[in-house]
Amino acid sequence: MAFDPIASPTTALGPSREATFVHPEQVAAASARLEAHGRRPNVLVILFDDVGWGDFGCYGGGVAVGAPTPNIDRLARQGLLLTSCYSEPSCSPSRATLLTGRLPCRHGLNRPPMYGEPGGLEGELTLAHLLSGAGYVTQAVGKWHMGENLESQPQNVGFDDFYGFLSVSDMYSEWRDPYFFPEVVYSDARTEWVKNMPFNRCFVHATRGGEPEAVEEVDIPALSLLDEKWAVYSTDFIRRMAGEEQPWFLYHCTRGAHFDNYPHERYLGASPAKHPYKDTLLELDDIVGRLVATLDDTGQLDNTLIFLSSDNGPHMENWPDAAFTPFRCAKGSTWEGGVRVPGILAWPGMIDADRQSDGLFGFSDLLPTVMNLAGVPDAVPTDRFIDGVDQTSFLLAPDGLSNRKFHYYWLVNDFSAVRCGEYKLMLTSTSDDDTDVAGPGGFTGVTQRYTYARLYNLYLDPKEQHSYLTRKLAYNEVFLGAIREHVTSLARFPGKSVVGRGG
Ligand code: CA
Repeated sequence: MAFDPIASPTTALGPSREATFVHPEQVAAASARLEAHGRRPNVLVILFDDVGWGDFGCYGGGVAVGAPTPNIDRLARQGLLLTSCYSEPSCSPSRATLLTGRLPCRHGLNRPPMYGEPGGLEGELTLAHLLSGAGYVTQAVGKWHMGENLESQPQNVGFDDFYGFLSVSDMYSEWRDPYFFPEVVYSDARTEWVKNMPFNRCFVHATRGGEPEAVEEVDIPALSLLDEKWAVYSTDFIRRMAGEEQPWFLYHCTRGAHFDNYPHERYLGASPAKHPYKDTLLELDDIVGRLVATLDDTGQLDNTLIFLSSDNGPHMENWPDAAFTPFRCAKGSTWEGGVRVPGILAWPGMIDADRQSDGLFGFSDLLPTVMNLAGVPDAVPTDRFIDGVDQTSFLLAPDGLSNRKFHYYWLVNDFSAVRCGEYKLMLTSTSDDDTDVAGPGGFTGVTQRYTYARLYNLYLDPKEQHSYLTRKLAYNEVFLGAIREHVTSLARFPGKSVVGRGG
């Protein structure tokens, strides 16, 4: 029987793993390619903040929305462009899922911790931990936002070195800019009140196991230089590692383009749109070009897996300082606009050029995939549930298909929806008045539970406006079976709530 993402069965991998499709021919092709390569790859993750599915030229944005992205478009042509790459609805849940291979219902960062709020990655096993154990040098640069407490900081969850800030861009600017926040800036009392909140106002440097050292306080002039400084730090790291025997993992998270944007002065007014968000996209695109050029110049490009993505959909409450998505709603929701993000995977010579796929790829998939590429698939933990599936053969086989059957959507503490093939069954969502991405979007709205589930066909109805359930009852059992499996996995391995409602 020909393969079909809805009709074909998965293979179970044991009690602590999400079941996976197994495509024997593409597994063989990928294995042959890996064997011929014979080396463990470096891994470069470039993660943007609040950038939209549609912002890049290769996704239909670029010049069409006033911000050309030639370097990102070129990178996409060198590899695999994913049209169904899924983050979580907001920053911290997404980032923790990317680094742990686990959904927010397991790692417990159900929403972002703000202003020094306690809770973070502490207690989780990260990709950096596992790659460190496999002999990789591990470097984190840029935005962290997975807990400011010492135990949750990068240097204590597997990274050898960290150069960046611990929180999120607006935390450093939203009480300093007199245009947006005059009631704070022109009040000494309110400025002191914010300063006394328990968050670190500096960007920091830290080495494995140590205390963070302040590099500089992040006022607005400093903020506008952060992406440049972080790019220099990462390109220096790549150059330095060219002479080393050890493979490396560089987790580079930009400041841009989270609101509010203060691009480097080199980019002010540089985009056709002449808006700070769009100018910032030009800056980020240049940074991608510089990182890739540094890999090329140092002879490491053909031994580096690059994953470029964004941590969630656009934050429409800050429009026009916001991204572009063709989908429904925005950041903070489980409508496609909140969680469907750009995803580009490149590894010249190993991932074929000019590929596009609508196969499902979740942020959780990076961990098991990379551990397999690093030659240690068995290093994936078994004492906790791993939601990620190994996508090695999807990436490396010519025209490889995704190994993921179901994508599960979580909305803060609530199970929201499941996607399989082109269908998405939704049980819980943010309110129905968020029908337009230029509407309330963001975190506005209430959580609503449906008496009868809604079923959307994402090919016919990418904006999720027409529930199709009563005409498509044949699909019910597929989705109900998926939900039963998912719930059972939570019963076997109870999740936690570190930051979230009631947690
Ligand atoms: Ca974000």
